[in-house]
Amino acid sequence: MTLRRTSAALRMRRNVLAAAVFAAGVLIASALAHGIADAQTYPVRPITVVVPFAAGGPTDVLARVLGERIRADLGQPVLIENVTGAGGSIGVGRVATAAPDGYTISAGHFGTHVANGAIYPLKYDLVRDLDPVARLPSNPMLVVTRKDFPAASLMELVAWLRANPGKATAGTAGAGSGSHIAGAFLANLVGAPLAFVPYRGTAPAMQDLVAGQIDLIVDQAANSLPQLRQGSIKALAVAAAMRLATAPEIPTSAEAGLPGLQMELWNGMWVPHGTPRPIVDKLNAAVVKALADPAVRERLATLGLAGPPADQRSPEALRAFQRSEIEKWWPIIKAAHITAE
Ligand code: ASP
Repeated sequence: MTLRRTSAALRMRRNVLAAAVFAAGVLIASALAHGIADAQTYPVRPITVVVPFAAGGPTDVLARVLGERIRADLGQPVLIENVTGAGGSIGVGRVATAAPDGYTISAGHFGTHVANGAIYPLKYDLVRDLDPVARLPSNPMLVVTRKDFPAASLMELVAWLRANPGKATAGTAGAGSGSHIAGAFLANLVGAPLAFVPYRGTAPAMQDLVAGQIDLIVDQAANSLPQLRQGSIKALAVAAAMRLATAPEIPTSAEAGLPGLQMELWNGMWVPHGTPRPIVDKLNAAVVKALADPAVRERLATLGLAGPPADQRSPEALRAFQRSEIEKWWPIIKAAHITAE
């Protein structure tokens, strides 16, 4: 009796186990089938690109120019959502915890996807929680001042900063942003501190520069050039080895007397970790196609945006580059005591 009951119980347990294994198998198979089907039909609804800075700024403009072309290729609207604050780390966090289905993309750059990891106690891991899609064009930085700042050249600015340590206000897109790191780099080369003023992007910082509320920004060319062309700000140097084809009147930092001042900001796109590879490939192909489009290239060139080389446009190339940038920059940022405060 006892024995029979035991073997009946055993049989039942075995049946339950078999059913569970079968159910799990069905679930996995259907998830795989769904994943493949999803990737085949992707995208079937609008895609959101999270820009972690204010609308109208350089990251936003790049995402919008590419988004328009990607929309034409993938046949779905590409919506830009500006999720700002904390040097872009809030917007990136939004994507790191989003569903890995290809419908939420993180647009960012050296600041958001490299520097922030050394500055903020992030709740996500920049490498583990986000999968790379493609590296995007780079943009040299310009030293721009308000129109009536009492310096007509880079060396005059350097002299002024040394004579008035900590007095010049420099707009940034928040701690760890490109404009902050580049500004800290300038201050370090000059040997005099700057009074950094954080904004939610360099678009609002630029508004204040034009209004004469702040003194300078070490800014991406894409953000400064439109105002420069209108004559509302002054550019003292481009932090690059060569002059900009689109604004050849601006001297290079070497020509202007500070050859060490070289900095450009590279951009990229990422999706939440675990996004099916066929979806990542579709997105990458759409981005690569957009970058090759003559109209897109021309628009980006007028903003001083160029590259990346063709062999640097794969997800793997972005991952390798991002890792190498993390290895190179985290120790420098930490040693320079660049913090969120
Ligand atoms: N990406 C810019 C920066 O880091 C800010 C922006 O896009 O508004 O300076």
